[in-house]
Amino acid sequence: MSAAIELSGIVKAYGDQRALDGVDMALPENAYISLLGPSGSGKTTLLRVIAGFEAPDRGRVLFGGRRIDGLAPHQRGIGFVFQNFALFPHLSVAGNIAFGLEQREKDPVTDPAKVKARVREMIALVGLSGLEDRAVIQISGGQRQRVALARTLVTEPNMVLLDEPLGALDANLRARMRGELRSIRERCGVTFLHVTGSETEALAMGDQVLVLDRGRIAQASPSGELYSNPASPAVARFLNCYNVLTGRPEKGVFHTAAGRLPLGSHLRPAAEAAYAIRYDRIDVRPLGAPIAEDEARFEGTFLASEYSGSAVNSFFNLDDGQVFEVEAHLSRKQPETYQEHGRYALVWKREDALVFA
Ligand code: ADP
Ligand code: MG
Repeated sequence: MSAAIELSGIVKAYGDQRALDGVDMALPENAYISLLGPSGSGKTTLLRVIAGFEAPDRGRVLFGGRRIDGLAPHQRGIGFVFQNFALFPHLSVAGNIAFGLEQREKDPVTDPAKVKARVREMIALVGLSGLEDRAVIQISGGQRQRVALARTLVTEPNMVLLDEPLGALDANLRARMRGELRSIRERCGVTFLHVTGSETEALAMGDQVLVLDRGRIAQASPSGELYSNPASPAVARFLNCYNVLTGRPEKGVFHTAAGRLPLGSHLRPAAEAAYAIRYDRIDVRPLGAPIAEDEARFEGTFLASEYSGSAVNSFFNLDDGQVFEVEAHLSRKQPETYQEHGRYALVWKREDALVFA
C-alpha cells in the first residue's frame, strides 16, 4: 500500500515547550484514520504542520513520496476542516461552497456554469440538497458541519484533515454524523485524518487509530486491536477501559500499593512498569468465594454503580484508596447489585492482565 502522507522526525516547539517531539507516521491512501490524544497532546499542531500553516523546526513531510514541507498550504492539495467550521456568515450555503473553488490560488474555477455544477454535486454528496440558498446562520450545527466539509471537498483535495469535527455537535447528531463522514469519505476515496479527544469516537470512526501522547505517536493500530493491545501504560490509561496499577514486577509477583498480584507468563517491555486489567474482564464475588489456580484477586469496598445503555460500571476502593472499575455488559447477564460499603473479591484471570515491565 502506498503512503498518502509520511512524517518523519517532526519537531515543533513553542518557546522551550515541544508541542511535537519527534513524530513519525505514515498514513495509507484511501482510508479513514483517527488521531486520538488528550487536550494539549499536539493534535492541532500536527494538523497545522501537515497542512502547511506551521513550519516544523525539524523533520520531513512527504506526500506520495514527494517532499512538501517547503510548499505553501495552497500548493499541497490538502483540505482542512476547522474545529469551529469558519464559514462566511454573510454567504449562502452554495456561496460558501463556491468560495473555495473560485478563490483558490491554484486552478481557480471561474466559469459560473462549472462552479454551479460542482457546487450542486457537493451539496448532494453531503446531503444538503434543497438548502443551497439558505444563509449559513439559518441552518443547524450539523448542517453547518456539512457545509464546511463540502467547502473543502469541492477543491478536490488529495487528503482531508478534520480537527475535532464533531466537537461542536450534540450527542445525537454526533453519532449520526460519524456514519455520514465515513460514507462521504468512501464516496470520494481520499484519506481523512480525523482528530478527536474521544476514544469511542476514534475507535468508531477510524480504520486505523493513531494515539498521540505528549507530542509523540504512542501507538498506531487497526481500531479493533487498540482496545486489546495498548502499547504502553499511558495508552491503556487513555483508552478508559483499563485499571492501571503502578508498581514493580519481581520474581513472579507484581507489587502495588494495593497489594501483590501473581504474574502470568507474558511481560510486555515498556519504559514504565504497570499492571493493567480491563474493566470488563473482572468478576465480582463474595469475599469467601474460592478462586482458581490461574486467577488473581484483590479485595475492594463497593462505592457505587453507574448504568449506561448497554453496561453497568461499578466502582470499588482498593486497600490503598485507589478506585478500581468493573464493567458488566447487560447483554451477558443480569446486573448484580452490591451492598453499600460492602467488601467484595475482585477476581480475574492472570493471563488477561497486561503487565508492562
Ligand atoms: P491539542 O490540539 O491536542 O489540544 P495543540 O496542538 O493545540 O494540542 O497544543 C499542543 C501544545 O502546544 C499545548 O501545550 C499548547 O499550549 C501549545 N501550543 C499550541 N499552539 C501554540 C502557539 N501558537 N503558541 C504557543 N503554544 C502553543
Ligand atoms: Mg486542538
